[in-house]
Amino acid sequence: MRPFASLVELQQGLHNRDFSAVELAEFYLGRIDRLNEHINGFITVDRERCLSVARQADDQLTKNSTAQLCGIPIAHKDVFCTRNMLTTCASRMLSSFISPYDATVVRKLKDAGTVLLGKTNMDEFAMGSSNETSHFGPVHNPWKLGYAPGGSSGGSAAVVAAGMAPAATGTDTGGSIRQPASLCGVTGLKPTYGRVSRFGMIAFASSLDQGGPIAHTVDDVHLLLSNMEGWDSNDATSADVEKLPPLDIERKFKIGIPEHLFTGLDRSVADPIDQARKSLESMGHVTIEVEIPHMDAAVAAYYVLSGAEASTNLARYDGVRYGHRTESPDELADLYCKSRSEGFGREVKRRILTGTYSLSVGYYDAYYLKAQKIRRLVRDAFLDTFDRVDLILAPVSPTTAFKLGTLGAQPVEMYRQDIYTIPVSLAGLPALSLPCGFDSGLPVGLQVIGPQFQDGNVLSLGKQYQESTDWHTRHPDSLEAFSA
Ligand code: GLN
Repeated sequence: MRPFASLVELQQGLHNRDFSAVELAEFYLGRIDRLNEHINGFITVDRERCLSVARQADDQLTKNSTAQLCGIPIAHKDVFCTRNMLTTCASRMLSSFISPYDATVVRKLKDAGTVLLGKTNMDEFAMGSSNETSHFGPVHNPWKLGYAPGGSSGGSAAVVAAGMAPAATGTDTGGSIRQPASLCGVTGLKPTYGRVSRFGMIAFASSLDQGGPIAHTVDDVHLLLSNMEGWDSNDATSADVEKLPPLDIERKFKIGIPEHLFTGLDRSVADPIDQARKSLESMGHVTIEVEIPHMDAAVAAYYVLSGAEASTNLARYDGVRYGHRTESPDELADLYCKSRSEGFGREVKRRILTGTYSLSVGYYDAYYLKAQKIRRLVRDAFLDTFDRVDLILAPVSPTTAFKLGTLGAQPVEMYRQDIYTIPVSLAGLPALSLPCGFDSGLPVGLQVIGPQFQDGNVLSLGKQYQESTDWHTRHPDSLEAFSA
């Protein structure tokens, strides 16, 4: 069995009886046993439950099940609630929390026949770009141990890149699917806000949070998203839109290149993207230069808005209803104060403090309201651009993977990791991150951005790119020393 097989290949293998769902699950569990101590990509793995679900999948397969992902192993980011299994959000606050229900995404993928391997490591409450804010320690980039996998879905991207799971779910509020996918050399999509239900996805910034898939190929991402999407009465912001269309491998697109975003960009990232642009042109797509205003204000606005939303969302962790409770409080206020002080890590506290500040009387207009206005300007800037082009091409991240421990002490430097992903999040648009080259052995990602609900076109361009390039088929080989 090959650790980096695509889901489409695994589906065929299962249907041809080349291997059973149990053998497949055992294969990945074996790799997790050998590699997780080096990668730290999983927080929880439930071997017994995984094998018992795989046995049921084998039963279904012999009955020629129509469930599209029957027997396919998967990992969920530990932000998705799962019944009978820990959901920690990589926080001490929830380190022993077991949800009484499954997130809609978890339920849908379960109904589609997937076999859950376990829950992946992440930045605490999805706040971070390097996985270093996790209560369970950082994740290592499979391309170079000691380097960050990106964040906050770093565990999900790393376990796929390391062949410890063939696919994983992630969430993206300001870049958390795209940036780790880029740094780990895998394919990840942030769907249009509203396409995938947020029910049971632990909230960070509700107006931005969106779940999506991470896998090896655009085909796999498409397959997963088709099984995750859909209107949900449990999520008031979920959208009732047409289902994701099949991939279009014929259509030629008009692609906007915001050259101004590339000024000052390191050649190590800019060169592979230039190369990708040339490949797309040679395939018959047309590229034109576009100017998208207000991009430079997006990061500041995002940190005001996401912090404000986080401060209200995280108010529920008071040590009373669920989550960490301090041992011996003096009185009620002391219970709140100590439980929250002990339960949350530094970055989460920073967000709660700044978020509360920008919502407080006297500062609301200067910060929160102003940030909302910037958000509208950013959205309008994208809308105007999409009057002229079908899709936009951009970098995902200003750098390749960086060394663990180098950005953690400088929050603003860390926040700048997301300069190319955050504007897209503010506008609620779909965006794909796909591998487009390497620098010094570390992957570089390409971002394809589309208009609202045109996730299908974004993926179609990605599919055409992957048909004529092989960056997505490269895998780290240094890990095999640990897998003997
Ligand atoms: N890195 C960004 C932040 O820390 C985005 C995180 C995310 O998308 N969840 O807020």
